[in-house]
Amino acid sequence: MTTFLELDGSEGEGGGQILRTALSLSMCTGTPIRIANIRARRKVPGLMRQHLTAVQAAAEICGAELEGGRLGSTRLSFVPGPIRGGDYRFAIGTAGSCTLVFQTVLPALLRADEPSRIRLQGGTHNPLAPPYHFLERAFLPLLRRMGAVVSLELQRFGFYPAGGGEFTASITPATLAPLTLDQPGTRLNAYAESFCAALPIAVARRELDVVRKRLGWDEPQLLLRGLSNDQGPGNALLITLEQEAVTELFTGFGEKGVTAEAVAAHAVDQVRQYLASGAAVGPYLADQLLLPLALAGTGSFTASAVTRHSLTNAEVIRRFLGTPIRTETLDSGACRISVG
Ligand code: ATP
Repeated sequence: MTTFLELDGSEGEGGGQILRTALSLSMCTGTPIRIANIRARRKVPGLMRQHLTAVQAAAEICGAELEGGRLGSTRLSFVPGPIRGGDYRFAIGTAGSCTLVFQTVLPALLRADEPSRIRLQGGTHNPLAPPYHFLERAFLPLLRRMGAVVSLELQRFGFYPAGGGEFTASITPATLAPLTLDQPGTRLNAYAESFCAALPIAVARRELDVVRKRLGWDEPQLLLRGLSNDQGPGNALLITLEQEAVTELFTGFGEKGVTAEAVAAHAVDQVRQYLASGAAVGPYLADQLLLPLALAGTGSFTASAVTRHSLTNAEVIRRFLGTPIRTETLDSGACRISVG
């Protein structure tokens, strides 16, 4: 008889991350899982297209036996088989985030028997998910430092709600080594880019003006990135901080009914909070680093904040691996998160 690890998707943050982390760890550890109450704390609970694509992608990669893998499902049973590298294509079919699907399968493909090349289609720059450039500049360089061999290539932007984006990833199996990040390190470069497709370029100009005024940055640091109309409509303001130990990236996503100034102010506020904390990583990298560090066995970093996403992710990881994840508030007000 199969023994399942039982998870409750309504715990803690109660969103899609519980499902994705559980799928990653189920594949990596060969543990059959049953999840109830999937995304119970969301307005529309259950599997949306992005989550369903992550489930189907995971099932394909390890030949899993699957029950409950359909849109809207709030229960899932997933019995993984051996992880198989190779060529895959995962299409979300809506603007659902393909970066989140990528993060679900990455840990498993790093443990596969052969290299993989995956093609992902859907949203590449979505609110409430890591934008493609965050993976490329912030998340993956840290994983590479841990030993991962991964490269990405963006073919087309896909903004929410239009979608239609695409990127490819090449992944060579590797063992992850521990990582310690205490300080962000000296600032090497900082710039803001406003990507704009099928929208007046004045929108991008106004966003960059806010960055100039509020961060005191100079014209060469402010980059207008007009995209071809067929990659839109959409807009995202990306603020990148290249530092010796970590590159961080904060985003404002253009939205109907939200002014360019408000989009930019949101991104600038995140940058200021991060810089004021003196921590190595911001709140998003913090929750996303927990899984790689736990798979490496140990590691630690300072973070500007401990979010509910981080605490919930830590609990899912503990259920699978038994890895303790501790948080400690530092005198500066930032936190240290220690894994293992
Ligand atoms: P839902 O909560 O509706 O189920 P979801 O499946 O998109 O949504 P969440 O559980 O909210 O997922 O997880 C979102 C993930 O996206 C988290 O890992 C978070 O760190 C990351 N994220 C969100 N916004 C950003 C951003 N601006 N930059 C980088 N990462 C982000």
